[in-house]
Amino acid sequence: PPAFNVARVRADFPILGLTVAGKPLVYLDNAASSQMPQPVIDRLVRYQSTEHANIHRAVHYLSETATAAYEAARTRLQRFINAREAREVIFTSGTTEGINLVAHGWGRQNIRAGDEIILTVLEHHSNIVPWQMLALEKGAILRVVPINDAGELLVDEYEALFNERTRLVSVGHVSNALGSINPVKQMIAFAHARGVPVLVDGAQAAPHLAVDVQDLDCDFYAFSGHKMCGPTGIGVLYGRAALLEAMQPFKGGGDMIHTVTFEKTTYAPIPNKFEAGTPPIAAAIGLGAAVDYLSSIGMPAIAAHEHELLRYATEHLSALPGVRLMGTAKDKAAVLSFAVQGIHPHDMGTLLNQEGVAVRTGHHCAQPLMVRLGVVATSRASFAFYNTLADVDALVAGIRSVQKVFA
Ligand code: PMP
Repeated sequence: PPAFNVARVRADFPILGLTVAGKPLVYLDNAASSQMPQPVIDRLVRYQSTEHANIHRAVHYLSETATAAYEAARTRLQRFINAREAREVIFTSGTTEGINLVAHGWGRQNIRAGDEIILTVLEHHSNIVPWQMLALEKGAILRVVPINDAGELLVDEYEALFNERTRLVSVGHVSNALGSINPVKQMIAFAHARGVPVLVDGAQAAPHLAVDVQDLDCDFYAFSGHKMCGPTGIGVLYGRAALLEAMQPFKGGGDMIHTVTFEKTTYAPIPNKFEAGTPPIAAAIGLGAAVDYLSSIGMPAIAAHEHELLRYATEHLSALPGVRLMGTAKDKAAVLSFAVQGIHPHDMGTLLNQEGVAVRTGHHCAQPLMVRLGVVATSRASFAFYNTLADVDALVAGIRSVQKVFA
């Protein structure tokens, strides 16, 4: 790919040209949702203008066109994460649905009273609540891997949690609140040596790192389109084919069956078994275009630029008096959670918005982590490859001017 050029990349994102409160938009809420480049917008317009119909159903031209585009998107996603086969890629509505699919389709069959599921204190609520619901239903137990003060998982403690009742590990690849990159490959190898499958919540990793599910050797990998330049309402659950084949479907309906009588239904092969009803066809095609776009820039180039943003932002934020950074893991994605002395995160977010700077404030759907950090909320700046060092300068200037308001 050509050398990374942030100005040229930014020109692909029409929304980055907005002004907010009379100031140029500085968009630093990418961990919540990223923005969409023109090639993805164009692909959606082309689909809606000239290719739209329901898929897997009719022999007419448009249905065949839409089906081919939808299945081509699946193949794009397969390549993006280096899955062995396209049928290991299930389109979901997002990470949340992917994890719930496994909790129902795998968990209800395989988890019994007294069984243990290992999570970490860094997890997003979507990788806690589905397991808690399953544990409540089955009488199973959740075990939680702790972190050190830098926000790094304590791998020794993780290994010590294993026993003969351990049935599953479900772990985030990258923390949405602190940016910590967890040593998932090492954690998976340890779990597999004990016959325990591993689900990885990749919502914050797929947009920022080159993900290779075969190299990780994970059993499941879930992520969301809207955090990686794609549309909302679409995501992927990767699953090892043998596991998916053995699992129960999560939702019943059309397109997931082989035959139906009132006595008995037999299910379609994967992936259709897990895609009941009309899927988000346009969104899946849009996500296919999004991963093409990311690949054309190159995930290593994206990671390198974001690393430079992280280095620069860490240096400048930690130099600000009264600002405390949370999460200083050695291996870290470009997410900065911070507290500013005497200023509530909500006020910080509101006043930064008046400077055109978009950050997220709150608990980041990670309340157990907030308890561990001893805060109720943080302000969070999360970067994408289209952010610039000037965006960091704008954030720093914004924080200083908010501090003056409260001085
Ligand atoms: N896991 C992590 C680590 C996340 O950051 C998010 C989104 N904030 C999710 C899961 C849930 O993703 P979605 O809302 O797209 O289902």
